[in-house]
Order: sequence, then C-alpha cells, then structure tokens
Amino acid sequence: MTSFVQAVYVLAAILFVLSLAGLSRPDAARRGSIFGMVGMGLAVVATLLLSLEQSQREWFVTLLLIALALGIGATVGTWRARRVEMTQMPEMIAMLHSFVGLAAVLVGFNSYLTETHADAVHLVEVFLGVLIGAVTFTGSIVAYLKLSARIKSAPLTLPGRNLLNLGALVASAGLLAWFLASPSLPPLLLMAVVALLLGWHLVASIGGGDMPVVVSMLNSYSGWAAAAAGFMLNNNLLIVTGALVGSSGAILSYIMCKAMNRSFISVILGGFGSEGGTVVASDTEHGEHHETHAAEVAEQLSQARRVIITPGYGMAVAKAQYPVADLVARLRSAGVDVRFGVHPVAGRLPGHMNVLLAEAKVPYDIVLEMDEINDDFADTDVVLVIGANDTVNPAALDDPSSPIAGMPVLEVWNAKQVVVFKRSMATGYAGVQNPLFFRDNTAMLFGDAKAQVANIVHALAAVTEQDGPVAHTP
Ligand code: NDP
Repeated sequence: MTSFVQAVYVLAAILFVLSLAGLSRPDAARRGSIFGMVGMGLAVVATLLLSLEQSQREWFVTLLLIALALGIGATVGTWRARRVEMTQMPEMIAMLHSFVGLAAVLVGFNSYLTETHADAVHLVEVFLGVLIGAVTFTGSIVAYLKLSARIKSAPLTLPGRNLLNLGALVASAGLLAWFLASPSLPPLLLMAVVALLLGWHLVASIGGGDMPVVVSMLNSYSGWAAAAAGFMLNNNLLIVTGALVGSSGAILSYIMCKAMNRSFISVILGGFGSEGGTVVASDTEHGEHHETHAAEVAEQLSQARRVIITPGYGMAVAKAQYPVADLVARLRSAGVDVRFGVHPVAGRLPGHMNVLLAEAKVPYDIVLEMDEINDDFADTDVVLVIGANDTVNPAALDDPSSPIAGMPVLEVWNAKQVVVFKRSMATGYAGVQNPLFFRDNTAMLFGDAKAQVANIVHALAAVTEQDGPVAHTP
C-alpha cells in the first residue's frame, strides 16, 4: 500500500507542477486549475488510504473521524466561497493562509507530544514548523483585518520596531538552543508566543500601498509552514506541495517588490506605508478639477484612433468589466485601436484585473502589462482610467515625500485626454491624493463605473447612429 500511495503522490506532485505552469498564462489557466483539482483529489484519496492503513483504531472509526472533519471543512468552505465577492477574495485568501499557519502550529505540538523518541532533526522540524506557522497565523489575521478594512491600513510604528523584530528572532534562536538541550514544552510554548507576536507586528507595521507584497509574502510563508508540517508528518507530498507554494509565493513577492520598486527586506522590516485609508482630500492644494459627462466622453471616443483603458480596484467594485468589454468591442468594430494597460498591483490581488477582463471575455492580446504599454501613452488620444487611482498617480514619480514615491506607475497623463471614472475625490488604497485629477488634460467622470460605462455605450450608439459608423484604420 505504502509504495502505491507514494506512486500516487508522485503523480499528484507532477499534476501540481503542470497546474502552476498552466496558471501562469490566462489561456492555459482553466487547464491548470483542472490539473490542480485532479492532483488534490488524488492526494486526498491516497492520504486517506494511508491513514486507514496506519491507523491504530478500527478502520471505520478513523474513516468516520476523517469524513467528519472533511465534511465540516467542505461545508464551511463551500458556503464561504459561494458567498464571497470577487473584491473580497484577497481577504479570504489571507484568512485561508491563517488556517495553514494554525495547522502547522497544531501539527507541531501534536508531533512533539506524541513522538516519544524524537531525535535532534525532528526537534528542529517541530520548532521551525511551529515558528513559521505561528508567524503565518497572526500575520495573516492582521492582513485579513487590514484588507477587509476592519482595522486601519496605516502602519503601526512602534519605537525601535526593527530592534523588536530582531529581538524576537534572537529570542527564538535562544529558545531553540534550550529546546534542543532539554526538549520540553516551556521553550516551545514561549517561542510560539514570541512568533505569534512577531507575525502580528511584522504585518501591522506595513502600510496601505505595500500590502500586495504582504499578501504574496504570507502566501509564501503558508507554503513553508505546510512544508514544515510535511516534515513533521513524514508526508512527502506535503513537503513538495509546500515547497511549490513557498517558492512560487517568494517569486511573486519578488515580482511585486520589483513592480513597486521596493526592497523586499525593507518592506518587511521598514513598514513605510502611508498614514491611513481612504480620505477625502481638499481640492485647494492641487487646484481645480474638471468634470465631464458620458455623452462628451462618447464624442471623444468616436473621434479617437488610439484608446488605452487602465482598470483598477474600482472596476472590480463596480463589476464594470462587462460593459467595459462591450464598449471595447464596439470601438474595435469601428476601427479604433483599443488596448488595456494593467499595473502589476492594480486591484487587491496579483492578477486581479487580468481575471476580471478574462471573465468578461476581453481578448488576451489587447491586455498589456505596464512595461509593455507605458511608452505608448504619448501616442494615445484618450485614456480611460476606470476605478484606478494609486497605480496612475504621478506623485509616485514627482514627489519624493509621497508614501508611494518610487513606485512605477502607468503614465496616463502623457496622453492627449484622460478620463477618470470614480465616485468622488477620495484617495485610493494608499491614502494619498492624486495630482492627476487636477491636470488640464484630465476630466473626472463621477459616478459608479459600471453605470457610467453603460451610459457611454448608450451615448456612443447614439453618436454613431447620428454620424454614421466611424471608420478608422487602426
Ligand atoms: P485604488 O485602490 O488606488 O483606487 C481605487 C479607486 O476606485 C478609488 O479611488 C475609488 O474612488 C474608485 N472606486 C471605488 N469604487 C468605485 C465604483 N463603484 N465606481 C467607480 N470608481 C470606484 O486602485 P488601484 O487599482 O489603482 O491601486 C491598487 C492599490 O491597492 C495600490 O495601492 C496597491 O498597492 C494596493 N493593493 C494591491 C494589492 C494587489 O495585490 N494588487 C493587494 C493589497 C493592496 P471613489 O471612492 O471616489 O469612487
């Protein structure tokens, strides 16, 4: 049985690798998800068989206990996943990461208490598993609270916070030495408390704009926590899966840091976010903003040859991707060159905008990354900024004192005309005002993005009916 289960584990591991490969491209993502689901199904069945074989109870009691746990987990999971809005996905993922962390802590304590003849290697596994698990647990809870706006996203700036973090690591190293010298519960328990506080502090001290890195970093931690649990349980597949999640999360964190021009270490230790969530800023500091309306934008679009759409979190909130796809199809059929410029941290989840646009069946080849499109704005007639704010903020480049200074942004202001879709003059996630809104070539289109895009589609139909179809050569 054991060698059969190991063979199934190898197959599942291969399916997980294929799944990750598929998930890296939108057109292969569906296939990737299916590979992942089949792999996970095989892994669960094989582990179940193994547990039944190794169980010291009657097999049906073990089966009943596992079925009960699976049933509760599956019911709660299905109920939550069906209710969750796309905009709530980041907080749900943060919550799920906290479960992985908690599981690693529980497995660690269980493993320590049940393994009577543990050698030094196993003790280190237990110690590291509990450490990583506890940091992931509380860190993910703070991320959940911040992403769901249950607590302020402003960074907690305790005096000497870097020393506090360093102190926690040094204390953990000392506790490890104690634990190895005389394996007992006190050093393990003390370290768990230190690690829980460390996880809380690490994430609490990171502010609004840098949260994308925290989300991907916790993703990575949850993978390492799972791998640590795999070592403790002697489960090869859990080690492989944990290492896959841990390393892909680390690569994602690196990509996010590069996208935001941040050093990974300083984000983790520095906590240089801004002073708070959304605030309504006064117009006086930046001058006057100009308002526009749907009919005027439709007129501008009907005259345009090149249009770029830069979506952001507001498009997700408004669920505007469907009318946006409709607008794009109409403009393209009239010969207008329409493309999307997607910032790597737009929305609240890596790849958030790509998922929404794919959902609305926008062709992949017109959805470009920031680096691919940033030089093309100067040659663009109209840019539609749909629910984006921080990712199109020129202060990131012009104002060294801005909390988002240095973050590369979509340079939409280089276009002839910019139209910003939002409901008010409120700031974006990082809590900083956006000078783009006050530029001469920017017009604000206030209101819900979905309703306003639908109004434009409507007005555009009227314009084309009146003037005949617009014929452009793209
Ligand atoms: P922002 O969060 O900066 O701004 C979104 C804008 O959308 C707001 O200014 C809001 O203005 C507007 N909005 C909200 N609802 C609607 C609606 N129904 N209709 C029209 N507009 C609406 O968005 P970006 O995508 O530009 O930036 C993402 C930010 O989130 C960055 O700071 C990033 O660091 C951070 N972040 C990203 C994560 C990721 O992984 N991608 C994870 C965590 C944080 P108003 O209220 O006036 O309508």
